[in-house]
Amino acid sequence: MERKMNEQELLASFDEALQQGHIYVLYQPKINHSTGRMIGAEALMRWKHPIYGTQYPSDFIPVLEKNDLIYRADLGVFQAVCRFLRNCLDDGVKPVPISVNMSRHDIFRKNYVDEIEKLRVKYDIPTKYIHTEMTETSAIGGMELVSGVLKQLHEFGYIVEMDDFGSGYSSLNVLKDLEVDIIKLDMRFLSGNIGGRGGTIITSIVQMAKWLGTPVIAEGVETMEQADYMKSIGCNYVQGYLYSKPIPEEAFRQKLTQLEHEPLKPSMDLIQTMDAGKFWNPESLETLIFNHFVGGAAIFTYQDGKVEVLRVNKKYVKEMGMNMIEQDILDSDPWHGFDDENRKIYENMLKRAIHSREEETCETCRTICSKICGEDKIYIRSYVRMIGSAENQYLFYAMVQNITMEKQQYLALYDSERRFRFASEQANVYAWEYTIATRQMRPCFRCMRDLHLPPLVENYPEPAIEVGIFPADYADMYRDWHRQLEQGTEYLEAIIPLTVGRVPFHVRYTLEKDENGNPLKAYGSATLVVDK
Ligand code: C2E
Ligand code: CA
Ligand code: CA
Repeated sequence: MERKMNEQELLASFDEALQQGHIYVLYQPKINHSTGRMIGAEALMRWKHPIYGTQYPSDFIPVLEKNDLIYRADLGVFQAVCRFLRNCLDDGVKPVPISVNMSRHDIFRKNYVDEIEKLRVKYDIPTKYIHTEMTETSAIGGMELVSGVLKQLHEFGYIVEMDDFGSGYSSLNVLKDLEVDIIKLDMRFLSGNIGGRGGTIITSIVQMAKWLGTPVIAEGVETMEQADYMKSIGCNYVQGYLYSKPIPEEAFRQKLTQLEHEPLKPSMDLIQTMDAGKFWNPESLETLIFNHFVGGAAIFTYQDGKVEVLRVNKKYVKEMGMNMIEQDILDSDPWHGFDDENRKIYENMLKRAIHSREEETCETCRTICSKICGEDKIYIRSYVRMIGSAENQYLFYAMVQNITMEKQQYLALYDSERRFRFASEQANVYAWEYTIATRQMRPCFRCMRDLHLPPLVENYPEPAIEVGIFPADYADMYRDWHRQLEQGTEYLEAIIPLTVGRVPFHVRYTLEKDENGNPLKAYGSATLVVDK
């Protein structure tokens, strides 16, 4: 007479069920879908009544929870798992880590963690073979309580998996506050087509988890399509009917001997210096730095030629110009606007950065379109550094500088410059143009080449003083020249020992004024003083 038992019946037969083994454990393997190897298993509670037959966890667990009995059942499961692991170890069967579910009611019990620890010690099981699973809804009972239990579990050395991630209760906030070691993402919460909204959510969870360095296990995986999809977004670990239903102890033990095992690895080896957890917290110092101090910056992943931008800061948007918002950039195809040649330049830089693990740089040109400004070419200097990698996926940190102005001026200059280059080369003349109103200086080709100046120098003459082209003892005099030019002095000259070598040069300025007599530009030159 198989049927679902009511509350009274369940309560009346609970003690006997525990003692007689009517409450027992099934094991469901967790598999690396890329390799087919087993990485662990979950212990799932079953109750088979001698008369009424199989009772389902979704029916009896709430009853046990309500009546404050679940901890006894859970300790029973924990003990059964310890006993199983002990037998395996004794018989030379190499086990995998088994995860045991923790009800949120267990968390509310003061000594629960001590109790499981006692069992583990009694059976002498290395902690690495036992994981605990707690659901994010546990946090409803109070964050402090849960983080206290989590801390205790960590102190004893248990790996903690967050069960049913994404099932509701502000998952992201929970993740921010609870440092769990593994995230379990239930495919069934994201029902429907994986290409749609559900897929987008999964993808961003997996990506975010990667960034945190937290591995993700997809559970409830029933089809090859689902498993392949998860793999394609960088989540290789799956648990579900596709590989195996929950199976009895004996059958599972068989599987342990038949299937190869492998350890579960963090999803990404983050380069240590960066605290990824803090990075996602909008109030953290890292975020503040990201937004305010580093200039234009972006975080993106690179895999098989595909780039996915995860995050950009405000200055990045500004630097790229046009009237875009952060979301526009995240939504658009990152390669859009690159022609083949520039894409190659950029990808080569990424490859260099993957190998060198150092900062690498390049300059590329892209076409940018926007609703208001139409089409435009921009030149971007990028500095990138790889900050994480997982198999063939790489995480990059990029800083960008818009060098369009510089570049255009350089190109224009280059043309006219070419004509004068030969002459100036002969005459040993360095020449530059100084714009009074903007304090910008444009050097000649020789200046750029010999003195390593960029095509456009802002806040002149400070940078030239700073790098020692004009030595310290002449700095004030040279600054004063620019003040005089501003006030209309038409001609200035002096012998100045330039650069660290203090090579004497004859430096001159002539001023150009506009039709009203206001100073406009000054033309500077420096000629080598040759001893006669
Ligand atoms: P859970 O922890 O999320 O466990 C996963 C559930 O998904 C299990 O249901 C498992 O049999 C089922 N499942 C696995 N793969 C697939 C699949 O491909 N498709 C579908 N449709 N289902 C799949 P189960 O064993 O009925 O357990 C239900 C829930 O009961 C568990 O959800 C867990 O919350 C609770 N539970 C199970 N065992 C224990 C236990 O020992 N202690 C406590 N406190 N709760 C437990
Ligand atoms: Ca579970
Ligand atoms: Ca689950």
